[in-house]
Formats: sequence, structure tokens, C-alpha cells
Amino acid sequence: MPKLPSPRIFGVSLLAALSLAAVVGCEGQTGIAAAGGPVVRTPPGSISVYQLAGRLGMRVVASTATSATLCSGRDTVTFFADPGGAVYVNAQPFAGHGPISSAGGMLFVPEPLAPQLAQLLPPPAPRPRPTGRWVGPLGPVVIDAGHGGKDPGAISVLKTTEKDVNLAVAERVCDLLAADGVEVVRTRRGDRFVELNDRAAVANRCDAELFVSIHADSCDNPDASGSTVYICRAASLDSLAAARAVERALCDAGVDSRGIREADFRVLVRTSGPAILIELGYLSNPAEARRLQQADYQARLAAAISQAILQHLRS
Ligand code: ZN
Repeated sequence: MPKLPSPRIFGVSLLAALSLAAVVGCEGQTGIAAAGGPVVRTPPGSISVYQLAGRLGMRVVASTATSATLCSGRDTVTFFADPGGAVYVNAQPFAGHGPISSAGGMLFVPEPLAPQLAQLLPPPAPRPRPTGRWVGPLGPVVIDAGHGGKDPGAISVLKTTEKDVNLAVAERVCDLLAADGVEVVRTRRGDRFVELNDRAAVANRCDAELFVSIHADSCDNPDASGSTVYICRAASLDSLAAARAVERALCDAGVDSRGIREADFRVLVRTSGPAILIELGYLSNPAEARRLQQADYQARLAAAISQAILQHLRS
């Protein structure tokens, strides 16, 4: 099968272009379900309370399918889902908030609510950036090796498991970043099962500069191949910039690329800070499956990803 085009998209119209090009993985749900967990059915025009918290410089301190509470040191905002949806800012009712929907066990609010609340609750002053020579990020980078333990992820045509490929590449990425002085936090060590919500919670707890989830794809078409970098539909510009850096680095390393795509993977919409999900390639493609289990190819992927992360942190 001819290589899929590598849609490198640049410029400020990228978000618009991406929303038109929103794609669900490998021509269907198979690839998506194998990746960062089932895609959350985000209500149109909405962002999760986690994304809202990120935009307001707040933290989600409680979150269920029917209510959520966001806190900063100074302010508290509480949401109740429809029907009877309500928003309280510092215990005072906040009118005109629009629909408060529930999906995937969390709440979603209309995106325009973010600037409205930001006016009312100016975010705390941004953390000072280091001046002069860059010495490292202020917060850690969270590396999430997809699946693990009882959840093998996709099984390759060679019977290797996605969880092992993900972990091998993720560990190399962690080592390379650490060697460059970046503080790295892993969502899993070794062959352990970790819930999707807990993976995002790791990033939210440590105020991560970037959350990077590493997966490998699979679908029914054995010819499908190439890496893909995902961001969620309401991704921040920071997420987008990180995705672009990784996609470009993978291309430069000679890795087939399917470009940057949008999907509301659970780990992406439950993360308050910048977040991306990388599909390294297709385990359902015999040639790619062979490559993905080779140490030198894993090293090439890891080098490209870690270089891109470093470059993104420095920018
Ligand atoms: Zn996966």
C-alpha cells in the first residue's frame, strides 16, 4: 500500500483545519479503542472541567458524573450537571452558564464559559520562567506508557503486546529526558495496570509541563501504517505546539507519519495541562510490527520524541 500522505499543517489556521479533519484513528473505532481508552463523546463546543481548570489556573478537587469542584488557593467554583445544572462561584450562583453536560464520567461546560470565568477570577500570576539559558522546565514531564498488567493493549501479528512496546519506548524517552536534566514522572513502572483516570491524575497532581501518552495502533487493515500524534478537540495551543514538534521530529527521523489528528481520548480530556498521545505505528502491519519490537527502531522513536519534547520545553 502506498504510504499515507503526511499532512504537516502549519500556521494559525491549524485548529480550524484540524477540526475539519478530525479523524477517528484507523478508519473506525478499533484503533481508537485500543489507544488511550475509549474516546469520550465530548458535547460539541464544550471542554471538560479538567481543561477548564487548566485555563483558569485552578485544580479539580472533586469530580463525578454529576458534579465537580475547582479550587485555586483563593477561589472555588462548583458545577452541577443538567438537568437543573448550576454553577456556583465562591458559593454565589453564577447565571448564564449554558448547558453543563456529563460524558465519560465527568462534566463538560461550554467553552465560552472559560473566558467568562477568567474575567471574574483572574488566574494567579504565571509562574516566572527562567531567564537566560534554559536549565529545565519548572514542572515535570509526565510520560505515560499506555496499557500494562492485565491490559495488554493491541496484540501484534507477531503476538507481541502493545503494552511492552509502549513501555520500552517510554522508558527510553524517560532516560533521554532525564539525561538532559528534565524532571520526568512515569505513570507506570514495569508491567503494571493503571486506570486511565489515574494516569491523567498523575499529570494534574504534579502540574506537568506536558503529558505524553505513548501507544501503538492496530486495526483490521494490515496495510495501515505510520505514526500519529493526537490532541483532543479543545486542545490548548501548547498541546498543539508539542504535537507539531513531535510529528516533525518523527518525520525527520524517517518514521512514517499520518500527521496530527484530533480525538477526545480520556487521558487527554482529563488532563488540565498540555497533553498529547502518540501512536508509534501499527502492530497490525507485519512490517511495522517487526520494526516496533526492534531495539534500534525503538531507540530511534525515543530519540525523536525526547528531542521534540526538549525543543518544545525550550520554546
Ligand atoms: Zn494503546
